Amino acid sequence: SKAATNIQPSLTRKLFNMAKEYEDVIDFTLGDPDIPTPTPIKEAGCKAIMENKTRYSQNAGLIDLRQAIANYIFKKEQLTYSPENEILVSVGAMEGLYLSLLATIDPGDEVIIPAPYYVNYKQMVEMCGGVPVIVEDYDHIKEFKCSVNKIKEAITPKTVAIILNTPCNPTGKIFSQEFISQIAEVSKEKNLMVITDEVYKSLVYNGNMRPKSIASLPDMKERTIFINSLSKEFCMTGWRIGYVAANREIITAMTKLQENVAACAPLPSQYAAIEALRTDIDYSTEMATVFKNRRDVLMETLSRTKKIKPATVDATFYAMIDISKTDMKSEEFAYELLKRKQVAVVPGIAYGKICDDFIRIAFTLDESKIREGMNRLVTFVEELN
Ligand code: PMP
Repeated sequence: SKAATNIQPSLTRKLFNMAKEYEDVIDFTLGDPDIPTPTPIKEAGCKAIMENKTRYSQNAGLIDLRQAIANYIFKKEQLTYSPENEILVSVGAMEGLYLSLLATIDPGDEVIIPAPYYVNYKQMVEMCGGVPVIVEDYDHIKEFKCSVNKIKEAITPKTVAIILNTPCNPTGKIFSQEFISQIAEVSKEKNLMVITDEVYKSLVYNGNMRPKSIASLPDMKERTIFINSLSKEFCMTGWRIGYVAANREIITAMTKLQENVAACAPLPSQYAAIEALRTDIDYSTEMATVFKNRRDVLMETLSRTKKIKPATVDATFYAMIDISKTDMKSEEFAYELLKRKQVAVVPGIAYGKICDDFIRIAFTLDESKIREGMNRLVTFVEELN
């Protein structure tokens, strides 16, 4: 099909696959935490399997899980959604995003994606017959910001939505509250839907910096599709549970589409998710501390060289490293680094042309591997002419 032919395999996967060809490789490509799913959550999943809760559920997901999600969103965001018709359980945030776009886009409709962006957004918009409009702001790339004016300039009569991702993969940055408010105003003025991907929200290192969702700003709940997931927050990437909260019309449409895409999210995983969301144990603060400490190890090791410069990281487990002082662009840098030092990273260009002077590191490995990998990276750049 044209859709399949047009889709480029991502550079993240390419480098991940290439890394497999080397022994003693240190692989910083994938954003997949190395920390096991907490035991009580695993037990809830196992119990569900042993009790033969292994069949289909309702398309929108178990009502008990939707209720747990509604309570959780209320606790974290002070937003009220009805479990009956404003919440959908998806197969990871990934399928939630895809169904959101399917429910929003008609062929030829444009969707604004500020760069740097999560690679799959562009492909998904295309899979839905839409046109991704990548907004790149060269004046603010060093801070990974995209000005609201640039975004406004990219809006046409065909624009139907904008995708926001805060905290952001690949940059580890949190959008300022001012930026979020301005986007809210633009979306109201231009009648756009906002698809907000907040899967890294639990991994904000300093709780005071936790951003307010755009959905909670005045008159925004109706036009916002709020996407989250248990993947990163509870170390459950393989369980495939995400969720979407939006207005009734959107969730009804998405539930109808769900029947034809995945039918429902995996049932044992849904029971595990109920346990994760209902418990009083605060898993995410613990996780955020783990990644903050790893970030510190990364920054400290890289401070040994002046030839490359990591950008500051406030959340997630990603760091962008400025390689502009070497005379390589991001792809060549990544291939050479892998070949010479067996360290796998993602070329920045994967996240937009504007990121060609950066590489991305996912620090989902333990501290000793991070130190070893960053030492190899420092040696690599010091050995360059
Ligand atoms: N959004 C972003 C920004 C991500 O980084 C990821 C996972 N890498 C996802 C969505 C998908 O997460 P899930 O495992 O919940 O499908």
